[in-house]
Amino acid sequence: MNLPKNRKDDYTEDAISRRIKYLHEYSGFEATQLTKSTIDPQLTKGNIENLIGFTQVPVGAIGPLKINGDHAKGEYYIPLSTTEGALISSFNRGARVITLSGGANVVVVRDSIQRAPFFELENLFKAREFIEWIGKQFVWLQQIAQSTTNNGKLLNYNAFMQGKIVFLRLNFSTGDAMGMNMITKATHEVCKYISGHFPIKHYSLESNMAVDKKPAHINSILGRGKTVSAEVVIKKNILSKFLHTTAHQIEKAYHRQVTGSFLAGTMGVNGHYANGITAMFLACGQDLANITESSVGYSSVEVIDEDLYVSVNLPSLVVGTVGGGVSLPTQRECLELIGCYGTGKSKKFAEIVAATALAGEISLEASIVAGDFVSAHEKYGRNKPKQDVPQIRN
Ligand code: NAP
Repeated sequence: MNLPKNRKDDYTEDAISRRIKYLHEYSGFEATQLTKSTIDPQLTKGNIENLIGFTQVPVGAIGPLKINGDHAKGEYYIPLSTTEGALISSFNRGARVITLSGGANVVVVRDSIQRAPFFELENLFKAREFIEWIGKQFVWLQQIAQSTTNNGKLLNYNAFMQGKIVFLRLNFSTGDAMGMNMITKATHEVCKYISGHFPIKHYSLESNMAVDKKPAHINSILGRGKTVSAEVVIKKNILSKFLHTTAHQIEKAYHRQVTGSFLAGTMGVNGHYANGITAMFLACGQDLANITESSVGYSSVEVIDEDLYVSVNLPSLVVGTVGGGVSLPTQRECLELIGCYGTGKSKKFAEIVAATALAGEISLEASIVAGDFVSAHEKYGRNKPKQDVPQIRN
């Protein structure tokens, strides 16, 4: 049997209770906490279907983190949502070190998001002709795309050919939205026009070359979402006082880890971008599945005299401050904490994410080198199950 549904309004207390009751009868589960939320279920329309409640994940704050970006300028207290003990303490330590070092320099280098339809032609001669035709039609295709959105713009494309198949990786700017709904609609119209004006045998809206919610080298090379870089130089005395290590020790360990990454075949070389990015995405209403490509990136370190230069490079950070989940009340509050809710804020948000990733890299690397990695987790990060102890606070 299907889950109970109210066709008129599926976001009422009654609709939710009927689903909970059905699931209780089906599995015996008790939803004493799931439905307890301050958020009006009606606000979740457009974000979820078959609503049965809210998962509550704790949010902590780190900071101040000083950022010298084009858009984020100043000191920030940053919300991070996680259930991993020691994560907040670690990022907080990294933030402190960056701030004492004069702040993280951050730039957004590229900004575009992709849909990549494929087209099947008669043969490869037709495929080549098709690519030439697309080039001539492109200004018109841009206008068709733009007719579907006030904020999106088809910027350019990359064409790839495999025999009689042509893949078009379309690059859009999407204002402050992460943009996937927006550009999917635009791409749909573009594809309809193309198929009506060129002898296409078959086409599909997506070929997997976008590459949405998957890790891929093409995202690192050509970019996806925002490409952001951050750097800081940490003085010798700060390294010893706050991180209990030296620039040379960190550099040596880092180079061993790069070798380890090569041997393991990792995509990207970093300590744990996913930790900071996930915690910020969760707190700030981003699409969590985009953590997959967003956390592929490259860290590097270099000794300059006795000081340490550290940089992070996030080539495919997929974020938005308008649309998606950002307007849900708690997510909005977290974005407001860093002054990143709404129009004109997405690049600022991207810069803060990159600076946070930098803080995480510094602290993790130092704790591995200085030997306090285990003790920090033992102190903050253990949560052994307690037998039959009620975990619920009513
Ligand atoms: P959206 O919430 O669907 O649309 C954003 C809306 O905000 C648009 O109506 C846009 O208007 C408007 N807007 C107002 N001010 C804006 C500004 N300053 N910048 C940009 N837009 C502005 O959000 P989306 O970013 O397009 O899509 C994000 C959602 O797509 C996420 O929830 C994600 O989970 C989901 N998603 C969809 C797909 C898919 O294939 N459809 C794939 C992956 C993820 P205009 O439309 O007039 O520009």
